[in-house]
Amino acid sequence: MAFIGIDLGTTNSLAAVWHGDDVSLIPNGLGEFLTPSVVSVTNDQTVLVGRTAKERLVSHPSATTARFKRLMGTSSTVTLNGKEFTPEELSALVLRQLKADAERFLGEPVTEAIISVPAYFNDNQRNATRVAAKLAGLKVERLINEPTAAAIAYGVREESDEMNFIVVDLGGGTFDVSVMEKFDDLLEVQASAGDSELGGEDFTQALVEHILQQNALSWQVLSLQERGRMYRQVDGVKAVLSEKESAEFVFTVNEREYTGQVTQAELASVWGSLLKRLTLPVERALRDASLTHSDISHVFMVGGATRMPQVQQLMTRILRRFPACHINPDHVVAMGAAIQAALKQKNKALGDVVLTDVMPFSLGVGCSNEDGQGGYLDDVHSIIIQRNTTIPVSRASHYVTLRDYQDTIHFTVYQGEHRLAQQNIKLGELSVSVPKARAGEEQVEVRFTYDINGLLEVNAKVLSTGVTETVVIQNSENRLNEDQIIEALARLSELKIPPAEQAANKALMARGERLFIEHLGQVRKTIGDEIQLFEQALATQDARVAEKAAREFDAFLNKFETVL
Ligand code: AMP
Repeated sequence: MAFIGIDLGTTNSLAAVWHGDDVSLIPNGLGEFLTPSVVSVTNDQTVLVGRTAKERLVSHPSATTARFKRLMGTSSTVTLNGKEFTPEELSALVLRQLKADAERFLGEPVTEAIISVPAYFNDNQRNATRVAAKLAGLKVERLINEPTAAAIAYGVREESDEMNFIVVDLGGGTFDVSVMEKFDDLLEVQASAGDSELGGEDFTQALVEHILQQNALSWQVLSLQERGRMYRQVDGVKAVLSEKESAEFVFTVNEREYTGQVTQAELASVWGSLLKRLTLPVERALRDASLTHSDISHVFMVGGATRMPQVQQLMTRILRRFPACHINPDHVVAMGAAIQAALKQKNKALGDVVLTDVMPFSLGVGCSNEDGQGGYLDDVHSIIIQRNTTIPVSRASHYVTLRDYQDTIHFTVYQGEHRLAQQNIKLGELSVSVPKARAGEEQVEVRFTYDINGLLEVNAKVLSTGVTETVVIQNSENRLNEDQIIEALARLSELKIPPAEQAANKALMARGERLFIEHLGQVRKTIGDEIQLFEQALATQDARVAEKAAREFDAFLNKFETVL
C-alpha cells in the first residue's frame, strides 16, 4: 500500500512518490506529469479530468470548470451539464484521478497521501481539502504548506539548524510569498503575503495586448475563439522568451495573417507595472516577519511563471541573493510532499507549523472616522487584530459615539486588508445600546478573541454601564458533516470514469473539437472532416487502425498549434 505526495494546484495537479532513494513523479494516463485541475461532465454523465477536460473549456464551456481551488472553503457551487458540484467534490474528482493514475503506475493500492495547501489557507479551506481527500478515498492525516514542501524538496532539512528563508511562488493566477524559519526540525511560516489577482496569466495577457497594439488591433475586436487561440499562442511566445532573446509569432484575425517578433528587451516596459506589483508582497512579508533581506539565507522559487528571467532578476535585485531554481518549479511542491510522506512513514516527519497558528488575514470593524474638516469618513476598516499575529489572541480597541444623543453603536466585523471596510469580507455584525449623551462622551470597548480553532468571539462593552453584547463567528459555516459526506460520496459514485486506455484518444478528440471551434472557413471544414475520419477509425475497434489514425490525426492537429 503506497503513501504519496500530492500538489493539488489551482492550474495543475501532480502526484509523486518516494521510490528507492529518490522521488519519482507519477505520470497520468497520457504519460504526462501535470494533470490540469479541470473537470468536465459529458452528456452521459461521464466525468473527464485533466487535459481532455481542459480542451473542453473551449468546446463545452457550460459542462467544464477550472480554477475551483479558489472556491475551496466557500459555499459556492458549480453546475456542469445540469449537475451541481461543491468545490470539495470537484477537487475530489481531481484527487480520484491522481489516485487512479498512481495505482496504475505503482501497481498497488494508494490509500494515504500528504496534500499540499497554500500557506495562507485558513481553517475552512484546509478542512475543505481534507473533505475532498476523503471523498476521493484517500486518508490524509496531515496537510503540508506549499512553501514548506518546496523547502523540503530543496533540501532545507540538510541545512544548518537555524535559518530564515523565503519561498516565492508565482503560478498561473496567484502570487504567494512566505518567509519561513527553520529551527531544529521545525519549519515555521513566519509571515505570508501575496496577490491573489496576479500570476503568469497576467504577463501573458499584457504581452497579448502589446502584440495586438503593435498591429493596430485590440482585444475587443477579437472573437471569443480568436482570443483563446491568440492567448495560447502568446503563452508559447512567452515561454520561448524565457529561453531566447527573441521569439516570432504569427496569428490570424478575421482571416488576415499577422507576423512579427518580440524581443526580451521589449518586455521590461510591457511588464513594468506587473513586475512592480511583485515587489510589494515580498517587502510586506519581510516587514511582517520583522526581517530584512540580510536575514534571509535562501530564496526558493515555485510555480511555472518563476521561469521568466525578469522575475528571477527582480527577486535577485530585491533580496540581493540569487534564487535557487534548479528544481523544476512545477514539480517542486509535489516532490516535497512525497519526501514528507516518506519521512512520516519512518516516523521522522519534519515539523511543519501550519499557518492556522497565525491569523492569515487582518480582522477589524467597519466604522466612521472624523475627516478632520468637521465631517465623517464612513466605512473605514479599523483593524483590531493584524494579519500574521500568532493565535490564540485577544485584542481590544475603543470607539466613541459620533453624534449627539446617539443611542446605539453598530459594528460590522470584517476580514481583510483593504482600507475601506466594505472591500473586505464581512463576517458578522452586532449593536450595543449606549446612554444618550454628547458626541464622544460614550465609549465602547470592542474585543476580538480568536482561538486556535478559528473561532472569533467579538465583545462590545459600553464602559459607562458595563453592558456587553457578544457575537461568536465560527469560521466553519459550510463544513460538511458525516451525513453530507456520505451523500456526496453517493453522488460522485454515480458519475462514470472513462477507461484509462481511452484517455489518449479522448484527449486527442477533445483537442480536435477545440481547434474546430477556434477556426473558421475552410480550415474549420478540414478539421471537421479529419475529426470524422478519426471517429470512423475508432469505430472499427481495430487497435492497429485506431493507433495509425491517432498518429495521423495528432500530426494534422499540430499544424494548427505551432508557435513559430
Ligand atoms: P503554474 O500554475 O505553477 O502551473 O504556472 C502556470 C504559469 O506559468 C502560466 O502562466 C504559464 O504561462 C507560466 N509558465 C510556464 N512555463 C513557463 C516558461 N517556460 N516561461 C514563462 N512562463 C511559464
